[in-house]
Amino acid sequence: MTHLLTIENLNAGYGDFQALFGLGIHVDRGEIVAIVGANGAGKSTLLRAIVGQVTMTGSIVFDGESLGSIPAHRRVGFGISLVPEGRKLFASLTVEENLLIGGHRTAAGRWNIEAVLDLFPLIRPLLKRQSDKLSGGEQQAIAIGRALMGNPRLLLLDEVSLGLAPVVVKGIYEALPGIVASGATVILVEQDIGVALGAADRVYCMLEGRVSLSGTPAELSREAIAAAYFGVA
Ligand code: ATP
Repeated sequence: MTHLLTIENLNAGYGDFQALFGLGIHVDRGEIVAIVGANGAGKSTLLRAIVGQVTMTGSIVFDGESLGSIPAHRRVGFGISLVPEGRKLFASLTVEENLLIGGHRTAAGRWNIEAVLDLFPLIRPLLKRQSDKLSGGEQQAIAIGRALMGNPRLLLLDEVSLGLAPVVVKGIYEALPGIVASGATVILVEQDIGVALGAADRVYCMLEGRVSLSGTPAELSREAIAAAYFGVA
């Protein structure tokens, strides 16, 4: 069976600045794949390339379709949804309005407000509250819920644990199996190697815009990851 996502020889960046160099990864249906790496390794740029937010050359094939020439706004229609670093909720809108916006152009699937509230019960009492008045963990759950409302086939999570207390991070990560059970495949960018290894089926480590190591958590030793993460021989 072919992969859900196959990326080959990806070069991407910002104007004259190149951030990714000949990068290749693949992701299978139903997998949780973690991308780890130090600050500036290019993890967010990889996610932005998948949703079409950076200039790129190379090949990104999603479910048999080449995405390279497809503009960002049309990639949502393919069922690809990014939860960006920093959540980026609509601050002046209520929680419910933020969720409804996520379902604006929805594909058929199991996600609706009730299903999101079942996944993240902490949101339920907050529906009528203004989004920017909430804690980081609450906002993160809403941002993920908003993405789910579009019934994505591929959900991209960029540093969802950043700045959150460990107990809140645990709650967010405990939601992942339910998300995969809904039919989604997940790529998550995570700086905390322990969290990534605990959650993912496979891990790619990035260093200076390239894949420096990949494998299942069982295959990768802490030492090998640390070396690949920091570029230590
Ligand atoms: P972080 O954890 O710091 O977000 P990252 O691995 O996600 O790191 P990227 O954000 O993808 O790394 O950044 C890769 C490189 O691209 C870095 O050198 C960064 O400075 C640069 N970069 C990121 N965003 C931009 C931008 N909008 N314009 C120019 N350069 C950028």
